[in-house]
Amino acid sequence: MAVLKADFEACQGYANCVVAAPEVYDIDDDGTVVLLKQEISDEDRAKVDEAVSSCPTSALSIED
Ligand code: SF4
Repeated sequence: MAVLKADFEACQGYANCVVAAPEVYDIDDDGTVVLLKQEISDEDRAKVDEAVSSCPTSALSIED
């Protein structure tokens, strides 16, 4: 199963990821991304791929 990664230093809180995959990403009070899941199912994969590519700071990745 694919594992989610996030570079919390790179994240600037643009929230594109939350818009693309709200069941997988959230933003904390400091404006930093929060991973709501560690691993993603095939079902969520398309949304997560979209979230990863929509991040302006390339803070998100997926490890297969
Ligand atoms: S899209 Fe990128 S910069 Fe924006 S909140 Fe998500 S991880 Fe952070």
